[in-house]
Amino acid sequence: MEQPVGATMSAPAEQTTGPERATLVLATNNAKKLRELRAVVEAADIPLDIIGLADVERYPEPAETERTFEGNAIIKARECALRTGLPALADDSGIEIDALNGCPGVRSARWAGPECDDDANNELLLRQLSDIPLGERQGRFVCAMAFAVPGGQGGLRQCEVFRAEWPGEPALEPAGENGFGYDPLFLPDDVEPVDGRRLASAELSPEHKNRISHRGQAVVGILPVIGGLLNITGQQPKPEIVAPTVGDDPAHSPEA
Ligand code: IMP
Repeated sequence: MEQPVGATMSAPAEQTTGPERATLVLATNNAKKLRELRAVVEAADIPLDIIGLADVERYPEPAETERTFEGNAIIKARECALRTGLPALADDSGIEIDALNGCPGVRSARWAGPECDDDANNELLLRQLSDIPLGERQGRFVCAMAFAVPGGQGGLRQCEVFRAEWPGEPALEPAGENGFGYDPLFLPDDVEPVDGRRLASAELSPEHKNRISHRGQAVVGILPVIGGLLNITGQQPKPEIVAPTVGDDPAHSPEA
């Protein structure tokens, strides 16, 4: 494993274009994730050019073999940095339910089977929780963002990962049209009820969801790490300008 960065964040990466501007690959084919990260970086005034996997030479995506979100995000970021020779950012996310021992966890995207869709995943989760009353279904969405910096002779200089959680619990039935995945079921703890009814994250506007979500928090958390490792600076993003609306993408695929 590469050197942890916690104590060495001030060291600039060798491959950057200097303190003026750096280039980073977001290890995704999802154009919306790319667009939204660019918007956040721009709003934070960070001198960073962000490209996606479509902008680099194709390589086989690595298997996500780890049992943690952090581990899988690191696999994707490391592979991207090693293949491209550029600093790379990758995310991995999913939902954990305490009553299911943390499942679906890293298997969230394919919980109901290898070819399943969001509806099948949600139906299975509801069935698995059918004996458990509301209030005892506590869990969370989790997003891990990993940032890897290449260095040395074709190796990795550093890798850092940031984990963010969004607490809540699955409802008894789905509600809402926004978002994707488990959003119609997920009742976030930090959203005020309307007329006494708790809202599902699929009922939030994309802006509202991403201001408070696991993914929005992970982006905010990893940006200072990126700035430190690449020796570039910017404003801290304010929560209200952090609006990665990935969750609003109906075409959002389980792939990174
Ligand atoms: P990915 O890491 O973005 O590919 O997400 C993995 C899986 O976790 C998705 O396919 C969804 O099932 C679930 N998931 C992750 N984040 C969210 C979210 O914000 N809303 C709903 N489901 C999510």
